Amino acid sequence: MKENIWRKDFPILDQEIYGKPLVYLDNAATSQMPVQVMERLAEHYKTEHANIHRGIHYLSEKSTEAVEQARKTIKGFVKASEAEEIIFTQGTTDSIHLVAAGIAEELLREAAGAMEDNAGLAGAVSRAGIVTTQMEHHSNYVPWQQVCRQTGAQFFVCPAPDGELDLDALEEILKNNRIRLVACAHVSNLTGTVNPLDQIIPLAHRYGAEVLVDGAQGILHQPVNVQELDCEYYCFSGHKMTGPTGIGVLYGKRACLEKLPPVRFGGGMVDIVTEQKTTWGPVPHRFEAGTPNIAGIIGLGAAVEYLLEHDIEAMHAWEDDLMAYALEKIGALPYVRILGHPKKRAGAIAFAVDGAHPYDIASMIDKAGVAVRSGNHCAQPMLQALGESAAVRVSPAFYNTKEEVDTLCEVLEKVITMLRRFQS
Ligand code: PMP
Repeated sequence: MKENIWRKDFPILDQEIYGKPLVYLDNAATSQMPVQVMERLAEHYKTEHANIHRGIHYLSEKSTEAVEQARKTIKGFVKASEAEEIIFTQGTTDSIHLVAAGIAEELLREAAGAMEDNAGLAGAVSRAGIVTTQMEHHSNYVPWQQVCRQTGAQFFVCPAPDGELDLDALEEILKNNRIRLVACAHVSNLTGTVNPLDQIIPLAHRYGAEVLVDGAQGILHQPVNVQELDCEYYCFSGHKMTGPTGIGVLYGKRACLEKLPPVRFGGGMVDIVTEQKTTWGPVPHRFEAGTPNIAGIIGLGAAVEYLLEHDIEAMHAWEDDLMAYALEKIGALPYVRILGHPKKRAGAIAFAVDGAHPYDIASMIDKAGVAVRSGNHCAQPMLQALGESAAVRVSPAFYNTKEEVDTLCEVLEKVITMLRRFQS
């Protein structure tokens, strides 16, 4: 088998747990960090740690420069047209919340305006709707459900039978309602479904809706070009793309960011503050109130540099090969049912086993050194639609190998046999 040229950069993978070599296949929960990112973080703390944008001393300027350089690197990575379209957040959940809360304020203002015009609140709110999908992570589902609850807007869920979005159903929703926004994952964190954004986004636009893409699971496993996609928003997390935790990005088209009301107030985001009124600073700073996760931003910039310098296209090709291999091998194991049959899959394979609980499977294979995840994967609506309440999820990344998939399958087979014996 071919040698994995990136693996040596991930020291955490080179260890034994419970006396067995670690096989880390839980990258959809969090990916690992290359040594280059750790070194950049250490260098930052050792030589440039200071608050940004405020001081005029040497360290503050150095830190500010590093943060703004990271913004430019990330802009290049997702192919945004301007660095100002990159907003730093705490992660995907936080990015989605920023847009959701802004839209909630806009919908409430709209409803209040309609009341003044005598149209009545009911008339005002019934015109707006938000669509999410059955396959979303709770982070891209619950915020929209709550925005609708708070504003009276209608909440629609596009069905995803067998892990594939029903685009005819989506079109019906768009055609029959005034949809403000479609919120949709790039890649499902449960079934690994790669959604056809090249169809979904133009479809939403045809009916006047904006599109927010939850890219948490897409950013590492698929090429991303936000200008080509033409989405209004694209959200992602550092820790799922070989960067640190606690840092994420909201990409937004400048025109959308200019009209989105900021919802977090404080230092760094204002222009003029008086007793009666505050005016906002420019995009992106008006969305970055308070001291940001400076080290996190710099670490994320270093992660993106790593991906760019180490040929992300080759990483994707490696992963595709690994996913096809894993899907076939896991699917061939006795009593295993792969969940969802999407046309295109990346980064995650979920399955159930007849006669064995996912929690027992994941706990037992952990003792053999293999890290996977069990549970509802923050995707209860998708699991319910698939007729399950829990699943085992295997989620490889570019530094995993076919040998590791072989180890996983050997261990799985033994564990499934043992668990079924206990239960019979
Ligand atoms: N959406 C998807 C598809 C995810 O996989 C995740 C993380 N597992 C999230 C959203 C939430 O990301 P975070 O916890 O980093 O905010």
